[in-house]
Amino acid sequence: MTDKNNEKHKIVIVGGGAAGLELATSLGKKLGKKGLAEVMLLDASPTHIWKPLLHEVAAGTLDESEQIEYLAQAHRNHFRFRLGKMEGLDRQKKEIYVSPTLSDSGEELIPRRTFSYDTLVMSVGSISNTFNIKGVAEHCLFLDTTAQAFKFQKQLVESYIKSHAGKAADKTLSIVIIGAGATGVELSAQLHEVTDLLAVYGLGESSDVKLTIIEAANQLLPALPGKLALATQQQLVKLGIDLKLGRRVIEVTKEGVHTHDGEMIPADLKVWSAGIKAPDWMQDLDGLEVNRINQLVVDETLKTSDDDIFALGDCAACPWPGHDSNVPPRAQAAHQQASTLSKSIVNKLQGGSPVKYVYLDYGSLVALGKYTTVGNLMGNLMGSVSIGGFIARVVYLSLYKMHQVAVHGYFRTAMLTLSNLFRRSAHATIKMH
Ligand SMILES: Cc1cc2nc3c(=O)[nH]c(=O)nc-3n(C[C@H](O)[C@H](O)[C@H](O)COP(=O)(O)OP(=O)(O)OC[C@H]3O[C@@H](n4cnc5c(N)ncnc54)[C@H](O)[C@@H]3O)c2cc1C
Repeated sequence: MTDKNNEKHKIVIVGGGAAGLELATSLGKKLGKKGLAEVMLLDASPTHIWKPLLHEVAAGTLDESEQIEYLAQAHRNHFRFRLGKMEGLDRQKKEIYVSPTLSDSGEELIPRRTFSYDTLVMSVGSISNTFNIKGVAEHCLFLDTTAQAFKFQKQLVESYIKSHAGKAADKTLSIVIIGAGATGVELSAQLHEVTDLLAVYGLGESSDVKLTIIEAANQLLPALPGKLALATQQQLVKLGIDLKLGRRVIEVTKEGVHTHDGEMIPADLKVWSAGIKAPDWMQDLDGLEVNRINQLVVDETLKTSDDDIFALGDCAACPWPGHDSNVPPRAQAAHQQASTLSKSIVNKLQGGSPVKYVYLDYGSLVALGKYTTVGNLMGNLMGSVSIGGFIARVVYLSLYKMHQVAVHGYFRTAMLTLSNLFRRSAHATIKMH
């Protein structure tokens, strides 16, 4: 199936995550609504959840109303949505190729398709980097997609029920998280909160779950200043979470996790959250330049080595002038890049110049469930201002609110926030099915 009967400038955005959904919404309002261009968003999933909330999905504490239906979002904001997974590109023909979409039972729902573009934007995000360590792909759970987070949540509940119903001696459910970056640390605190809640609901004791974090570095949260990493470490130890720092994982088996010093840590559930890369199929996108973790190399205007193809978010290697590294793979970078690229694409259609992207590092925040939030604010802008507790929690929530405002506007965001507050007061805080 081709898509060649429309003369308007065709903008195709692949990936509707933190970056792509904001961009599609913005371009839909600026160009699609006025009939100045045809904006299409392609995503492998029918719904969107802001990725930093995935550890809440995994722990079963996220309200389902936080999901956005792409089709409804597209209808409201003057762009088209197509469900499907991109698998290839022909730059000469200016076409992308999309794999057949299958049902859960493997039946073909939508055949292989081709879409043509005038401007292509790649925003497919990242996946976990397993570094080819033996057994990781087979035995670990990942938090790369909403589907994986739901799978984790289901296994968590089933494992908990199974161990709780077992004999006293086997009652402890052991969960090992590999990687002590923000994802691993936030997940551990969230899981601890869930265990406490289950005990409050009368299903077992909080001591029924043993949580362990394994990290190769000697400090957790390498992106945060040492003082804050230490404060986080103390908080996790207080919660009874076992931290194994300076321990490199060399193999994962069904029974547990093996570290370089010969220890085997038994685990019922193993979660891998140690590093990211762009998806492997990006290595061969018709000659577009990529780096060693498959990210598309872009210049300061987010343009790839092809003048009509842009990349943003986690799948882009974007220069960060004055730093040894590229712009980090963060939701705040994705949000800023979406707004810069939206201006550049509008300019491009009007014959103007692209806008240069400058990363504003507002710092890093790590939410430790209901317990606390720690972080450093303003990153490079004002030097590091360390914060913790309630203020950090409010700032952390505001990152998500910025995404919601970009996607829904101020009024709908306020209404959604209010309705969630009411819903949370009436429903269980965790999902048990
Ligand atoms: C558990 C967790 C917690 C995090 N916490 C924070 C945080 O607190 N602060 C922070 O700044 N960052 C955080 N991050 C990182 C942040 O989520 C990412 O940097 C951000 O989501 C990147 O946005 P993106 O648009 O590039 O990719 P994503 O938001 O991942 O979106 C990618 C989209 O592309 C789609 N897609 C993928 N492949 C294809 C394909 N082949 N065809 C079509 N569509 C495709 C996916 O379905 C998805 O919708 C966290 C990440 C995780 C996993």
